[in-house]
Amino acid sequence: MRILLPLLFYFSLLFALAACHTERQKNDSSVEAHAKALAQQFIITDGHIDLPYRMNMASKRSSREVVQLISDTKGDFDYERAKEGGLDAPFMSIYIPASYQESGGAKALADSLINSVINITEQYPDQFALANTPRQVEENISKGLISLPMGMENGAPIGDSLENVQYFFDRGIRYITLTHGKANQICDSSYDSTRVWNGLSPFGEQVVTAMNQVGIMVDVSHISDSAFYDVMKITKAPVIASHSSCRHFVPGFERNMSDEMIKTLAENGGVIQINFGSGFIDATSKKKSDQAYSHLEHWLQENNLTEEDSAAQAYMDAYLAKNPVYSTVEKVADHIDHVVQLVGIDHVCFGSDFDGVGDTLPEGLKDVSDYPNLIAELLRRNYSEEDIEKICYKNVFRVWNEVLEIATQESGSSIN
Ligand SMILES: [Zn+2]
Repeated sequence: MRILLPLLFYFSLLFALAACHTERQKNDSSVEAHAKALAQQFIITDGHIDLPYRMNMASKRSSREVVQLISDTKGDFDYERAKEGGLDAPFMSIYIPASYQESGGAKALADSLINSVINITEQYPDQFALANTPRQVEENISKGLISLPMGMENGAPIGDSLENVQYFFDRGIRYITLTHGKANQICDSSYDSTRVWNGLSPFGEQVVTAMNQVGIMVDVSHISDSAFYDVMKITKAPVIASHSSCRHFVPGFERNMSDEMIKTLAENGGVIQINFGSGFIDATSKKKSDQAYSHLEHWLQENNLTEEDSAAQAYMDAYLAKNPVYSTVEKVADHIDHVVQLVGIDHVCFGSDFDGVGDTLPEGLKDVSDYPNLIAELLRRNYSEEDIEKICYKNVFRVWNEVLEIATQESGSSIN
């Protein structure tokens, strides 16, 4: 008896632990199934995917049709994986590197990247369609199509002519990131230690007003803090940060938004779309990726190449594969939590930067098939379906519709 009782206790404890483990596994697989169902049920928008530039780079290495390169080059986005992840409206980034501000040709590059997105929809009419409004996204979904709305990353192609704001609206551009890695004619950049304007330039102020009048969303990602506050003083419409995360988790990283900025953005009705790049969401990853990029900078100098050269991209990918910087899907959810705690549920969405951050994406968020993993994490954190729907698309649709509505009031004409 003396031996039997402890043994009995021991076995029942083992049994209880095993049952508990199975229950947890069951719960987890049911959470994952729930998340996958929600990803299909809800519209999912993403503020920033760099497919056009990936195709542009690949086209320099290949004689094949640019549009065939979506599947030829294994990036983070293609039709099959987007369908699997439930992605409906990824904003295609029309990315103009800052080097074009010196070399010229920014407008021509923008036009050619816009053409490449239009080409995709013409070559694959049973998979993709353009979309200029939230309503068009919904119409495309009813036909089983993935929408490819467009945002222009860098206002350099506007040049010194405000008429170009209307020109790019007519070409389908629905947001403009005012600048990229360096100060341009519109404003200063968070990545540029030279502050040319200490915020927005006088011309930049006119650009923001023109964007409000025309119906293009102002994107405050990449711009300096002073430029952000200047925009907020002038804009008549809510703004977006198409692919920025919270500076709270990566102190001193101006490319992300401070708590104060997130509050100001929310007061104006705007939305921050969280960048998934590990260097954006995690201070340790940021340190490692800074080391990787400074290593690359030396390598580029030694080899007389620029970051845009395909050899540089391949070298960097190989370097990052050997020196991984990966954060986690949980960390991305921490950023969403942080925004919600600061300003509530109405001001946060996804802005992955897929195809734009190289091999630095977190475990569990490697490509466009992985949105369900993030939704599962939100379910585990007790977000309601209604909350998740807002994060997936409703918050962005609200801003997009409002910007179009305000433009209609400002200009007195209707936009379809
Ligand atoms: Zn960017």
